[in-house]
Order: sequence, then C-alpha cells, then structure tokens
Amino acid sequence: MFATQLIRKSALNGRAQMLARTAPMTTAVKTGYEEYWMPFTHGRKFKAQPRLFHGAEGMHYFLEDGSKVVDGAAGLWCVNAGHKQKKIADAVKAQVDKLDFCSSFNIGHELPFQFSRKLLELVPNRGFGHVFFTVCGSSAVDSAMKIALAYHKAKGNASRTRFIGRERGYHGVGFGGISVGGISANRKAFAGSLLGNVDHLPHTHSIKDMAFSKGQPKWGAHLADELERLVTLHDASTIAAVIVEPVAGSTGVIPPPEGYLERLREICTKHDILLIFDEVITGFGRLGSSFGTEKFDVTPDIITCAKGLTNAVVPCGAVICNSKLYQALADNADSDKGATIELFHGYTYSGHPLAMAAGLATLEVYEEQKLFANANNLAPYFQEAIHSLKGLPNVVDIRNLGLMGAVELSPVPGEPFKRVIDVFERAFDKGVFVRGSGVNIAISPPLIVNKIQIDQIFNTLGEAIVESAKYM
Ligand code: PLP
Repeated sequence: MFATQLIRKSALNGRAQMLARTAPMTTAVKTGYEEYWMPFTHGRKFKAQPRLFHGAEGMHYFLEDGSKVVDGAAGLWCVNAGHKQKKIADAVKAQVDKLDFCSSFNIGHELPFQFSRKLLELVPNRGFGHVFFTVCGSSAVDSAMKIALAYHKAKGNASRTRFIGRERGYHGVGFGGISVGGISANRKAFAGSLLGNVDHLPHTHSIKDMAFSKGQPKWGAHLADELERLVTLHDASTIAAVIVEPVAGSTGVIPPPEGYLERLREICTKHDILLIFDEVITGFGRLGSSFGTEKFDVTPDIITCAKGLTNAVVPCGAVICNSKLYQALADNADSDKGATIELFHGYTYSGHPLAMAAGLATLEVYEEQKLFANANNLAPYFQEAIHSLKGLPNVVDIRNLGLMGAVELSPVPGEPFKRVIDVFERAFDKGVFVRGSGVNIAISPPLIVNKIQIDQIFNTLGEAIVESAKYM
C-alpha cells in the first residue's frame, strides 16, 4: 500500500512526538563528543543530541537500545549490497591475515590486476582498457582530471587545460572537484582558490518544464547545446574535458533529459574533448545496470567511481579509462628516455590489498545475488511509491530513476533547509533513515530492498511530511 493511503491513520499516532519536537533545541555540546570534527555537519546541533548507530545488517541500522532503522540511503549512496555482507567481510578478514599492505609504486600484488580485469568486464565493448585506483570519489575525480590533462599533453595538445563542469554538479571535495562542481555553498567557502580554467554548463532541472516527471524528463535535451556555445567562447583547443554525473545525485537526483547525454557525447567527439562520467553514485547497480554508461548507452572516455565499488566496506575509488588514454601516456614515456613513469600521480593506498579484496568480493555478491537485476525489476515499483507522495503539503517536485529518487520541499522563507531537516528527523524517529540534501529528501536504498521495505520508507516519509507541515 502506498504512502498517501496510510498517512491519515498514522499521523494521529505521531501526536506525542510532535509535541516533544516543539521544545526548543539546545546547542550545548554533550560531554565526550567535542573532539571529532564532523564532515559536512552542523556539529554543535548533532553533538547536543547525537544520533549514533551501533550496528547494521542487511537493510537496517541498529540503535543503542536495539531498535531498527531502515537504511533508505544505503549509508551515503554506497552500501549497495546492504550491510554486513558475509562474503565481503570474510574476504577482508582473510586479506588482513595474508597481506595487509603493499605499495603499488613499482612493486605490487595480484589483486589490483584481478580487480581491474573484473571491473572492465562490467563495461564490455566500450573501449575501456585501464583502471587507476584511488582512495575515494574525490580523489577519483581529481585523478581523472589529471589524466585528461596528461593525455592531451602527451598528444601534443598542451593548451587543452580547461574543464567544463555543470551547475548543481557534485564531484567531491578536492580542489579539482569543487572547481568543476556546481554547488554554490561548497564553491563560496573556498572562492578565490578554485582552479581558474573552468566553466560550467547550465543544470538541467526546471520545475516549470518538468515537475513530477517519472524517470528521464522529456524536456531539456537542448541544454547540451550550451556546450557548443562554450566551445565557441573558449575555443576547443583550450578544453580538456567535460565532466558530468549521468544523474546528478547530491543536489537532489536530477535525471538527464532524454537525448541530453547523447548530445553531449556528440559535441565532445566533434571537438576532441574528453567526456568524463562521474559515476560515484550511479555506478554499481543504482540505476539497475552496471553503470550509467550502460543504462543510457552513452560511452564516456573516463568513468570515475567509488562507494559501491567496495560496498563501502573499505574506502576506495577508481578511474576507468579508455585504452587510448593509457596508450598515449605509455607512448609518450617510451619516446622520452627521461620520463619512464607514465603518470606522475598516485596514492600510498592505490590498489590497497584490503580495498581490492573487498572490491572483488563485492562484485561477486552483486553477481551471485543478482542485485543489479533486482534494482532494475523494482525500479517501476519504487517510481510509483515515490510519486504517491505527490499532493502532500509542501511537495513541489518528485524525481526518480532506478533506485534513486528525491522529494523536493518548498523552503521555509528565510530558513531554506529547516523543513527538510525537520522531515528527516521525524522520519528517523519513526525508524526510517533518508538523506536530507538542501531542499530535497533523497532516497537510495541498498539494492537488496524489497517491496515491503519500499512501502515502509515512503509511508513513513509521507507521515513525516504531513506532520511537519502542521508546524511550518
Ligand atoms: N562524485 C560524486 C558524483 C559524488 O556523489 C561524490 C560523493 O558523494 C563524490 C564524487 C565524492 O566522493 P567521496 O565522498 O568518496 O570523496
């Protein structure tokens, strides 16, 4: 049963909680919680009333008192196979005992080679030939940008140094990533220190033209033509690469308009500009396929990924590259006796044995449990469930694709994020964890989710939205 059918009944039960919530929020920090500087967090608020998880299994987190919270966010878009998958845990445990660390600088071990091969099997016949391992999504993005620059230089096009990102894009927190990213707050915090040679495409979201679209909106393919305008402005000879998320995730799930990615690909090819798909969220089954490139049948030159790469059990990122990129750098190194190293870039933890063991086991779990197919099969149900929230108070848009979706709420005047925080807290207190992101509530459950859990997520979210509307 979908959300709107259940809301009236359960909204009455939430009365006591609602009254408790109207008490003023203290920001006094609880003793013992001062030292940890939390990322992207209103730390004083959190530390006044910490929400701490003590365990997790499958679709659930556990609180200290043993109560269960449904994980409607796959942790942070990353625990795609669900929590505590035995095969992955066992692989990591065994690897610690066998080879805990080995550098990848001029020495190595078997696992990164095996894992690269397996990753390339996920995207067959698209020209990808090499994988570079990093430590997270941010380092994957910055590595991809460096690879793009190095490629053009190796090909004798050293003037191609400009990057084109997109408004409302999120590409992590490295200086490369925030420069090509399009989240104003992240940019403003470091304005003046961003990379200079960057321009941005317009984002593709328009409430006027596409509100409540199911899946890919029909409107908006023409926005890709803005790339032609930027090429005319800067000249193709100055542009190294375009980077976009196939579906923008962190800024509120924005699926690409039909035909948009295809058009970007055409323009990049025409002008010899590399196309980078940042698939840190859209990779590993989130859209019901291995990557967005398979889902949309559009092939970039580089894919960046992380998160679901290891089911988040060990931090890791990867840059999957078209063969021509590695080849150009290898040829360049061969032709210059002083430059034996192909790429002047790498991390102590590139190809870390624990991450590689986790990643190999994760790919086996995806395959054995047919999780990409499960996501694909459930996507229509998920779509109907999320769109059943249409018509609830303050809901101004709903977007979805695969097993990712967002409900956009109208902001409280002068306090744009207050409503989303309130809805997030109400849903959490009712046992469902979703992600508040600006004016959006984002939902991205692990791919092991079933219909009953999808109902629970959206019924609870609906209740929280209705209750919250009574107070703001
Ligand atoms: N790129 C995209 C598309 C992301 O969504 C994220 C994180 O959410 C990143 C990059 C950064 O990844 P990380 O937080 O692992 O550095």
